[in-house]
Amino acid sequence: MKTVDLRSDTVTRPTKEMFDAILKADLGDDVLGDEPTVQKLERLAAEMAGKEAAVYVPSGTMGNQIAICCHTQPGDVIIAEEEAHILYYEVGAPAILANVITRNVPSIRGILDPDEVEKRVMQRSLHTPGSTLLCIENTHNRAGGTITSIERMKELNAVARKHGMKVHLDGARVFNAAVALGVPLTSIISHVDSVSMCLSKGLRSPVGSVLCGPTEFIERARIWRKRLGGGMRQAGILAACGIVSLTKMVDRLAEDHKRCRTLFAALKDLPGLTIDPETVQTNILIVQSQRPAVEWVKALGEKGVDFFPFGEYRFRLVLHADVDDAQVERAIGAFKLTAEHFAKSPAAV
Ligand SMILES: *Cc1c(COP(=O)(O)O)cnc(C)c1O
Repeated sequence: MKTVDLRSDTVTRPTKEMFDAILKADLGDDVLGDEPTVQKLERLAAEMAGKEAAVYVPSGTMGNQIAICCHTQPGDVIIAEEEAHILYYEVGAPAILANVITRNVPSIRGILDPDEVEKRVMQRSLHTPGSTLLCIENTHNRAGGTITSIERMKELNAVARKHGMKVHLDGARVFNAAVALGVPLTSIISHVDSVSMCLSKGLRSPVGSVLCGPTEFIERARIWRKRLGGGMRQAGILAACGIVSLTKMVDRLAEDHKRCRTLFAALKDLPGLTIDPETVQTNILIVQSQRPAVEWVKALGEKGVDFFPFGEYRFRLVLHADVDDAQVERAIGAFKLTAEHFAKSPAAV
């Protein structure tokens, strides 16, 4: 039987429609500036984001890092939530590529508090570096796919504006936020200067993200993309899938959210596990375990359910298009058996 793969929404395979789009794609050389399918994707992404322009990049990490490079000067300060992907999972890139200092803001459930942000703003002087960029992550991965509300986006933008800072949104899963809130994407993104959005997660593309922002910013972003080795030639092969993602895959995210709630309802009362119900907002479940997370990962792995530990006593389950209702039921069955088994056998000391 096929493994129930709850490791990440990045594991989704391209659909038949995507393979068809690949076969039909008009191709050119994007580094030479004549890739019609990439250009079509970029126009579509910019339009959906309500921004002037967009650039197609190989990964969300590159989209975020290019944005930081474009918004800052070496020695500047960027402010971000302390477990933001930009700080936690991008291998120190802000220090190495943009040469910036990071000020990390603790938060509740990944949602930045404008007062906490403001406390960390620095004014440039003979003695101190200046903060020039605020980074927001919506939805927040490590906090469990939590949503920063439109109201909060507005407040954060106001703090940044007040201090002459730009705002970048790590919107790897911003479509999940928009679908869960039932609002247009632009109502979230209109409060930031730039946004990076993943096509390769719940939207099912094999590869790629789009970075959107003002025309002048995107022109500089193209230079950074080339500098970082992200210029791709017949990238229309991939961009064709991205177009399918943006036109056909957004609404379906609601199914992932629904299955996430189903999984939550079944797991929340199992002995040895706890889940903060307030984090159950989109497609990610963060589960606290009494036993070490690795023991759960191993036991479930033997029953054909894969996921990652997310700390010593914490693991993450991610719902996506390649996990259907039957697989959710199988995962629930496996968790119940394991919980019963663990409840009967005392944990090793
Ligand atoms: C996945 C992800 C990214 C980008 O990841 P890539 O693997 O580089 O595409 C950025 N931010 C968040 C919050 C993510 O979850």
